[in-house]
Amino acid sequence: MFVCICVLCVCLTAVISRNQEGPGEMGKAVLIPKDDQEKMKELFKINQFNLMASDLIALNRSLPDVRLEGCKTKVYPDELPNTSVVIVFHNEAWSTLLRTVYSVINRSPHYLLSEVILVDDASERDFLKLTLENYVKNLEVPVKIIRMEERSGLIRARLRGAAASKGQVITFLDAHCECTLGWLEPLLARIKEDRKTVVCPIIDVISDDTFEYMAGSDMTYGGFNWKLNFRWYPVPQREMDRRKGDRTLPVRTPTMAGGLFSIDRNYFEEIGTYDAGMDIWGGENLEMSFRIWQCGGSLEIVTCSHVGHVFRKATPYTFPGGTGHVINKNNRRLAEVWMDEFKDFFYIISPGVVKVDYGDVSVRKTLRENLKCKPFSWYLENIYPDSQIPRRYYSLGEIRNVETNQCLDNMGRKENEKVGIFNCHGMGGNQRLTLRHVNSNQCLDEPSEEDKMVPTMQDCSGTRSQQWLLRNMTLGA
Ligand code: UDP
Ligand code: MN
Repeated sequence: MFVCICVLCVCLTAVISRNQEGPGEMGKAVLIPKDDQEKMKELFKINQFNLMASDLIALNRSLPDVRLEGCKTKVYPDELPNTSVVIVFHNEAWSTLLRTVYSVINRSPHYLLSEVILVDDASERDFLKLTLENYVKNLEVPVKIIRMEERSGLIRARLRGAAASKGQVITFLDAHCECTLGWLEPLLARIKEDRKTVVCPIIDVISDDTFEYMAGSDMTYGGFNWKLNFRWYPVPQREMDRRKGDRTLPVRTPTMAGGLFSIDRNYFEEIGTYDAGMDIWGGENLEMSFRIWQCGGSLEIVTCSHVGHVFRKATPYTFPGGTGHVINKNNRRLAEVWMDEFKDFFYIISPGVVKVDYGDVSVRKTLRENLKCKPFSWYLENIYPDSQIPRRYYSLGEIRNVETNQCLDNMGRKENEKVGIFNCHGMGGNQRLTLRHVNSNQCLDEPSEEDKMVPTMQDCSGTRSQQWLLRNMTLGA
């Protein structure tokens, strides 16, 4: 008996130590020896991440527990809703796809996991066909594979996955993620508390180069710039104050990154799923963010939930129709339906976008009416007051001297410097100017003593030196 236990001990220690020492275990970086680096670079091109490193790492590798201390001891209700996990993919690598699936299965309580749904967006790789189908049959949780007949993009692929799902909640993940210990319970618990809250985990970074697992910050949240690019920004003080400094409480975020979130399945339907008129990739995350906030829901980052994602610097696949065209089309649909007059800020900085045919958005406009959604100005005022888009403004456009046909141009200069004068080019850019309301940050100020000609940009002060007379002014962009 004694011997037996002892043998077990040895075996167990052996297993544990092997697990901790294998490549990439505990989220460690995998470094490729010099001799293999040529091959590594070749393989990198296939998925725009280090496939050689990924293939060396166990499909069920161990990860560090990166949660805040206060998260580790939180207790969640027993009766949580269960979830379907929907993962869409186009030509994903085997090791990243399967590591995503294993991390879901191994780190989620099975009674909370209704199924995993893989939606294949018309991939061309052979191993993603029968080999994949046979492989997933042996997993401990039902894994369903759905195939799109033709390349449709992540939006329509997710819609298909959602329609086939049975869970009370739908959780979307990208196909190159790794879920960490305790990732699921806090997401589901928040939805149980308030079914109209759409929740995102903190997205940790899996290095595209070494597959090192690096904890994401609980001090950043989602925003966007004038070009409608999603961007991370520091969580503002007002949001820290609202949570009374407790970083384990969810952060209300103006936008979501898009790939990783959970939503109550009935609420997903009620709030209008996705805009099925959007193609391939892009814009859908802001579309959903604006829609949720404007139509009575809320969007949060649940800081006790961590899921890793391989962030890439370039896209590995083609965009039928061209990358720019597809993204412009999606962004136009989003701007036309949700942004009211504020869409002009986007159009003036990306003038090419107004030439793009964006199809018919009447169904989405009707949805907005039926749901009695609030205007975009409400969203800027209440949800995203720190937005780069000014909440109040008199006019947006160029300031042109009609005699000389020259325009005020900030020449790419920084705050408190002189503005310049340049031939009007009608392309927005550095000539897009607003006569701003006093509570925005920079205003045209009178020229300094040394230079009587050119005004400067100064913090808005409301003083007489910043008051300008509008004469013969044509309003509009
Ligand atoms: N995807 C898809 N069809 C497409 C483009 C992307 O199914 O036409 C999948 C892709 O495989 C990934 C998810 O959608 O699982 C998000 O795409 P990606 O990871 O390229 O976006 P990123 O994370 O870089 O924003
Ligand atoms: Mn991704």
